[in-house]
Amino acid sequence: MNTVAFPRKVAIIGGGAGGLSTAVILAKLGCDVTVYEKNFQPGGLMRSYRRGGIDCEVGVHYLGSLDKGQVLRTFFDYLGVSDAIPVTRMGQNGVIDRYHLQAPSSPSIIFDLVEGIDAYAHNLALAFPEETGVIEILAREIREAARQLHNLDFLNAADNDFSLLDQFRPMGEIVDELKCSPALRSILAIPSCWIGVPFDDCPAYYHHMALASYVSSSWRLDNSGAAMADALAARLESLGGKLVTGEKISRILVESRVVGGVELATGERVEADTVIAAVHPKVVVSMLKPEDTKPSYRQRIAGIFDTHGIFCAHVMVDSQSCEVRDHNIFKIETDADGGVEDMKYYQIRASERQGINLLSILTSGNDTVWEPWRQTFSGRRGPDYENAKYRHAAKLVAESEDLLGPLGETTLLDTYTPLTLRDWVGSPGGSAYGVRRSCSQMLATALLNRTAVKGLYLAGQNVLAPGIVGTFMGSFATVKLLLGREEFGQLVRF
Ligand SMILES: Cc1cc2nc3c(=O)[nH]c(=O)nc-3n(C[C@H](O)[C@H](O)[C@H](O)COP(=O)(O)OP(=O)(O)OC[C@H]3O[C@@H](n4cnc5c(N)ncnc54)[C@H](O)[C@@H]3O)c2cc1C
Repeated sequence: MNTVAFPRKVAIIGGGAGGLSTAVILAKLGCDVTVYEKNFQPGGLMRSYRRGGIDCEVGVHYLGSLDKGQVLRTFFDYLGVSDAIPVTRMGQNGVIDRYHLQAPSSPSIIFDLVEGIDAYAHNLALAFPEETGVIEILAREIREAARQLHNLDFLNAADNDFSLLDQFRPMGEIVDELKCSPALRSILAIPSCWIGVPFDDCPAYYHHMALASYVSSSWRLDNSGAAMADALAARLESLGGKLVTGEKISRILVESRVVGGVELATGERVEADTVIAAVHPKVVVSMLKPEDTKPSYRQRIAGIFDTHGIFCAHVMVDSQSCEVRDHNIFKIETDADGGVEDMKYYQIRASERQGINLLSILTSGNDTVWEPWRQTFSGRRGPDYENAKYRHAAKLVAESEDLLGPLGETTLLDTYTPLTLRDWVGSPGGSAYGVRRSCSQMLATALLNRTAVKGLYLAGQNVLAPGIVGTFMGSFATVKLLLGREEFGQLVRF
């Protein structure tokens, strides 16, 4: 029997992809939902920003699994936003991602990630003919992960978290056992970099799911991340949900371990029988009084390691000298054993301005570079910080020419650092993908949407997995937890 009370008045903290999608699901079910977003515009990491008349992406460079019957398309259709978020399929010229791999004292390798698991396995077999047996073993597991992903098995499971399903062994252990060559290992390691987890410590299921989500089909937004955020916000409002922007929540109100509402930074209090915090769990704990939760809960959350930050340079390039690429480009430096030491991501797309393309370069944040400014806030970090960002970006642009060829005239449009991300969305330490879902943290990060307070839940990328696919999965998982499995099955029909 379901003993969970149906949520009537729901306050959602955070209007990113997680908060907005959770709100749309609940508004469709007839709940009275209000999303509180601290920034003046919704979207969080999903939201692009404009510089010099050009949309600069932050957290949506490409999306996976938007073909009919695939997981994100199923979610978009359920949320009612498929038509409002136009996309173009990647890989139509045969390539979704092109990897340029460089190991010490070895010739560089180019490997193309193409659409379809069979085609991916075929390309691996062409590159590593001696290892076809190993490749087929791994391809079987990836096909199974794709099947589970697109069938939404995580929502049908009795439990609330897929980290407890099969395929939870670390990828490092699996490829060691299969005796993969260092070069094959380095290619297999890339999907775990996308989700910010070291390959050796990455649960096989996360690796396979991340890979399957993009190999199944990959897409670029026709418009921008801002338009995507606005489409979700408009959908929420069309269903009667409310979005309040420019209002920071400072406290979650709890009495005797039962949630009662939220308090805004202005001091205004809003009652709610259900509060969903679509923010990092460390932020949630900071909004609670010590007596609201057990010390063990607070210790568990405080001890979680997060994923790294990201530095990004957006650069204007002349469209004659630097053509649009329909695929993503990755430069990967590995050690002699195939471990990834450094990864850079390049995207070149047409811009809103005639004759100008936009080159975006993303690297892992190298967080120590920004350490001197850790105590400062956006817009008030001073000229030394601006110079450091400029120098960092100039180095990246110069280095990119080794791969992309001469870029011609370039103009740095904007940069962001892990500190920018930290201040924009409140992500602890500027972490890009939230909690690190590694094997070593399997227990600490399991069932994160269940909190120690009745009526308080978590949503967003920290619930199940990062990325838009992972974040939306978390939204449905949280609604399932909130309604109870049976009621969810009856009410939420795909
Ligand atoms: C550089 C980068 C590149 C990425 N590229 C891709 C990609 O190509 N494809 C892909 O699928 N995914 C990508 N991702 C991941 C994806 O963007 C995220 O997983 C997803 O957007 C996370 O959404 P969220 O709602 O969980 O978190 P967030 O976007 O962080 O949303 C949290 C929201 O809560 C608000 N908030 C915080 N504290 C408060 C408070 N006290 N009161 C009110 N509001 C508050 C924040 O302002 C924010 O809007 C990328 C991420 C990064 C950082």
